[in-house]
Amino acid sequence: MIPFNKSIVAGNELNYIKEAISSGKIASGGHFSNKCSHILEKRYHSKKVLLTKSCTAALEMCALLLDIHPGDEVIVPSFSYVSTANSFALRGASICFADIDPKTLNITPKELINLISPKTKALVVLHYAGISCEMDEIIDLCQKKGIVIIEDAALSIDAYYNHKALGTLGDLGCFSFHETKNISSGEGGALFINNLKYKERAEIILNKGTNRAAHLRGDIQKYEWQDLGSSYALPELNAAYLLGQLEKIDTIQKRRIELWHNYQFGLNELEMQGKINLPFVPESSTVNGSVFYFLCLNKETRDTLIDHLRNRNIYAVFHYIPLHTSPYIKKKQKTHYLPISESYSARIIRLPLYYKLTDEEQWVVIEEVISFFKQND
Ligand SMILES: *Cc1c(COP(=O)(O)O)cnc(C)c1O
Repeated sequence: MIPFNKSIVAGNELNYIKEAISSGKIASGGHFSNKCSHILEKRYHSKKVLLTKSCTAALEMCALLLDIHPGDEVIVPSFSYVSTANSFALRGASICFADIDPKTLNITPKELINLISPKTKALVVLHYAGISCEMDEIIDLCQKKGIVIIEDAALSIDAYYNHKALGTLGDLGCFSFHETKNISSGEGGALFINNLKYKERAEIILNKGTNRAAHLRGDIQKYEWQDLGSSYALPELNAAYLLGQLEKIDTIQKRRIELWHNYQFGLNELEMQGKINLPFVPESSTVNGSVFYFLCLNKETRDTLIDHLRNRNIYAVFHYIPLHTSPYIKKKQKTHYLPISESYSARIIRLPLYYKLTDEEQWVVIEEVISFFKQND
């Protein structure tokens, strides 16, 4: 059986969890959280990193930081995960759904121009599969219009745009350490605060709206309710696991990127024959081995291919259902046809990609995909 994903112990995860338990400090904001934050700040040149329970939590923190309220508009790509939009809808924002670029599957500056209105407060960009949006143009545009940029960097750990780390380009960047991502703590996430005006309030929002962080540092005697917030901080047991993974990030990344290129190489003949479209990586961007996807020519082929692989115990999946076609949004607002998002959602397939996937297993996957298209000639 070749599963779609398998979580791994890469190094010292178990020792660190034991250490956390022996230390008697297993809630949030302790030694392991601080260590992980420092590693991320240093490696990616981020001004401030807070660990959160999930990327969803980090996105919800952004909505609170921006004081999103009913009447505000937030632009998000329709081809994304629910949390990209839900976190802002929770605060009453109207969500404006953008279509995506047919080559990168990312939101484009051109699409953005069509959607900006005087009510637009924020833009959430998703760097799909860790491949960057055209950030120079997007940042230019948003600065001119006074729009805050939030990066949904859930798939973008260790990915770069013109040598700058994704997640550090917008005002705020949100990462995920869910078990399906490159680096994991089971559930977990991080908020990168790139615009320091958000730093003080972010710490309060993270800690249930209190100044507990200042209290833990010994700055104040007693902490109090200061602002809206919630319980967003990552527990120490998860941070201990995360530290084990972060210490091995170079090893994990090297293998995942190698697997990504193996797929690209192995399936190249199918692209040459015009049967599939492989991922496109612009010169400004890097490959981080987060997602390997390709596009079939139509939905029927995609669905039959997933079944074909499943019958051979290979678990391939697809995502996302365009958010503007979701039951929740359909009940709430009128939406427009977004041709690329809808067509790509029907044609995309993701292949198994995880650190422990062996070369032999990967060749079985590649050969099964190739033999499927031969059968269907
Ligand atoms: C995984 C993912 C999320 C959610 O991450 P959690 O840590 O599970 O909250 C959000 N956005 C994108 C694009 C994702 O891939």
